[in-house]
Amino acid sequence: MVYKKVILVMFFFILNCCAVPSKKRDTSVSAALESPSEISSLESASKEPDEQESEPQQSDDISSFLKDLETDNHKEPEQQSQIQEIIKIGILETSYPSSINFSGSVIIVKDNYSEKILELTEARDYRIKKSNSGIALENNYFSSELKLSPKDSGTIISVNNKRYRGNIIVKVSGSKLIFINEIELENYVCGIITKEISASWPEESLKAQAVVARTYALKNMNRHKNDGYNLCATQHCQVYGGLDAEDDRSNNAVFATRGQVLQYDGQIANTFYHSSCGGRTESASLVWNLRNKIPYVTGVKCGYCGSDPWKSWSYKLRLSDMAKLLSKSGYPIKKIKRIKLTGKTASGRVKTVTIYHSNGKYNMTSHKFRMAIGTQIIRSTNFSASINGGYAYFKGHGWGHGVGMCQWGAKGMAEAGWDYKKILKHYYRGCKIKDNYGYED
Ligand SMILES: [Zn+2]
Ligand SMILES: [Zn+2]
Repeated sequence: MVYKKVILVMFFFILNCCAVPSKKRDTSVSAALESPSEISSLESASKEPDEQESEPQQSDDISSFLKDLETDNHKEPEQQSQIQEIIKIGILETSYPSSINFSGSVIIVKDNYSEKILELTEARDYRIKKSNSGIALENNYFSSELKLSPKDSGTIISVNNKRYRGNIIVKVSGSKLIFINEIELENYVCGIITKEISASWPEESLKAQAVVARTYALKNMNRHKNDGYNLCATQHCQVYGGLDAEDDRSNNAVFATRGQVLQYDGQIANTFYHSSCGGRTESASLVWNLRNKIPYVTGVKCGYCGSDPWKSWSYKLRLSDMAKLLSKSGYPIKKIKRIKLTGKTASGRVKTVTIYHSNGKYNMTSHKFRMAIGTQIIRSTNFSASINGGYAYFKGHGWGHGVGMCQWGAKGMAEAGWDYKKILKHYYRGCKIKDNYGYED
C-alpha cells in the first residue's frame, strides 16, 4: 500500500517549536500523512545511566486498544485519518491552579473562540486556573480554550516549571483544565528517548529507539481523539518529558533517523517494545489473546539482553496480599490455597494461571494475572511460582510484555556492532524502514 501525499493547508502557522537545534528540516513532509488506526505508555525521574531500573515505559495492558487493531489493521489508506507532522500531547489534566512561565521574550495568548489576544512580556510565573465561565489567566478571562505561543524561536514556555517546545493549548474539560503541548513530531520524539533508555547507551540503540518511538506515535495518533489531543504523556501512550528530558546524544539519534518509520505491508507497523525479554521475545497474539497473529511480532530469539538487571528476578509475596490484589482486579478471594501454572510458550512464558482458593478456582491468562498482581512484582510472564508458609515465591526472567523490540537486547546488539537497521529488522520481522514518514517520493 502506498501512502498518498496529502496537500494540507498549513493552517498551523509556522510553529516556533521548529527550533530543534541544528539539522536541516525536510520541508517536503511538512504536511500530513495518512495513518492506520489506533492503539498503543509514568512519569519517571531522570535516570542515572547505569543504575536505572529501566521501567518498561510502554503500557503492558493494551488489550482494549488491540480490539481496534484487529479490526482496523488493514484499512485502506483512503479510509484512514490524516495525521500531521505536528502532534498534540496531553501533558496535564488538573483541577488545581497551575503556573505558566517562559524564558525568552514574549508569549502570545490567543483565545480560540473570542479572538482575544494578550501578550505576556514579563518572564515570571503566571497563575492559570478554571474560572466560572472559562479560563482565568490571573485577571484576564478567556473562553474555554486558549493557545499560548512563543513569539520567537528562542522563547520556551513552561507549565508548572516543566519546559516544552512549541505551543501550549489550555482547554476546559468539566471541572478541570487540560494542558496540551502542540509540537513538531521530531521534537516530541526528542522528549521521549531518555524516558525509555539512558542517553549513554550506544548510538545505534538510541537510533533504534527513536525509530520505534516515532513509528509508535504515528500508529497511535487517534488514541486520544476524544480527549482533544493525539497522545498522552504517560506510560499509557509513551512517556514524554518535554525539553527537560532531552539530551544531546539522544537528540542526535532522532535527527539521524529523521522521518524514518517501520512499515509492514505498506502500513505503519505497531512497534511494541519492552525493557527486556529474558532470552526470547513473545508473540503479540499470545500475550494479548488476539484472534489473529501480528505477522511482524510473533517472537524471535534475542540472546543479547544478558546485561539486563532484571535478567533474573524474584519476589516474595504474602498470600493475604495476593488475595487482596486479585480481589481488587475482579477475582474475589478470601484465602489462596494453591497456584498452578499451565503451558509454556516458545519463549518460556506461562500461558495460564489457576488460583485455587477457599471458594473454588480462577483461571486466567498469565498476562491478566501479571496485570492484577502488578508489573513491579510479576515483572514478566516468564516465571515460576511456589507457596510456602503463607507466602508465594515468584522467580522470573526479563521485564515487560516481551513483544517487539527488547531494549536491553538492542543495547547488547549495538555493543556487538549491529547498526540500528539490523536491530529493527531482527525484532520486527518483515518490516521495512521507510523515510519521510512512509511517503513514497
Ligand atoms: Zn495515552
Ligand atoms: Zn532480549
